[in-house]
Amino acid sequence: MLPYNSLDEAAVSLGRNLTFAETLWFNYSANKSDYFLYCHNILFMFLIYSTVPLPYVLVELMRSAGFEKYKIQPKVKLSSSETFKCYKDVMRMSFLVVGPLQLLSYPSVKMIGIRTSLPLPSGWEIFLQLLVYFIVEDYTNYWIHRFLHGKWGYEKIHRVHHEYTAPIAFAASYAHWAEILILGLPSFLGPAIVPGHMITFWLWFVLRQIEAIETHSGYDFPWTPTKYIPFYGGAEYHDYHHYVGRQSQSNFASMFTYCDFIYGTDKGYRYQKKLLGKLKEGLKSDGEQNGGSDLPIQDLKSE
Ligand SMILES: [Zn+2]
Ligand SMILES: [Zn+2]
Repeated sequence: MLPYNSLDEAAVSLGRNLTFAETLWFNYSANKSDYFLYCHNILFMFLIYSTVPLPYVLVELMRSAGFEKYKIQPKVKLSSSETFKCYKDVMRMSFLVVGPLQLLSYPSVKMIGIRTSLPLPSGWEIFLQLLVYFIVEDYTNYWIHRFLHGKWGYEKIHRVHHEYTAPIAFAASYAHWAEILILGLPSFLGPAIVPGHMITFWLWFVLRQIEAIETHSGYDFPWTPTKYIPFYGGAEYHDYHHYVGRQSQSNFASMFTYCDFIYGTDKGYRYQKKLLGKLKEGLKSDGEQNGGSDLPIQDLKSE
């Protein structure tokens, strides 16, 4: 809720006219409580998990030949009922765990100083804060994920997320309730270190979910804008982690590749990628002579 009764009052307080975005924000938020604004994340969560995966799901169910070459594990085919079951399971967990977690975590959001006030942050401020959030989340998530691949962590908790050895977009947040709770911490750590505006917090929440959906989509589209992000792992990178499954000691990072590189947990992936590249080269030259086909990644299962 904003401490002004009118736009004029806000302008006097700021010592200048409000920008277009600030006017929009004033009109939307002036009479809404900060708690209500914070709870928008619950609505965003349901909206994003119900809509962003849809193009991937359609491509998956149609299995059109034009997209088949981008499927990372082309031999794995899920039926529409299996896909819908995944969606239902994720929605149920979101309703039972993520929603209540959001509702109850408001005091901590207030404590760290997420603000709803004017002025709005500049584009640069939002960008730099989001960058910090992604880096902090990625680093913390790396170590928690690595811990979850220990015997106890895997069998008791992380096994659920790995039920999908060839992930689909809906499976991005398919996980044990304890994993959802634990991984809430890395997501919260960045905003706690560099608290920003509620709009930045919303954006962080939305972008992180979209990133997880793309990473679990099972498709490596060459035109995805995330290809331009330095050190970005992407769908193929995380797909390998799911493909190897339980014994995976590779590709733990959620977004970037540098942690796995620094701590040496991408050796298996790099080896397989190199091998696959060589085999593809070989097949290509054979194919030019005999009309050969692509080699799917699952033919190279390691360990
Ligand atoms: Zn894992
Ligand atoms: Zn995953």
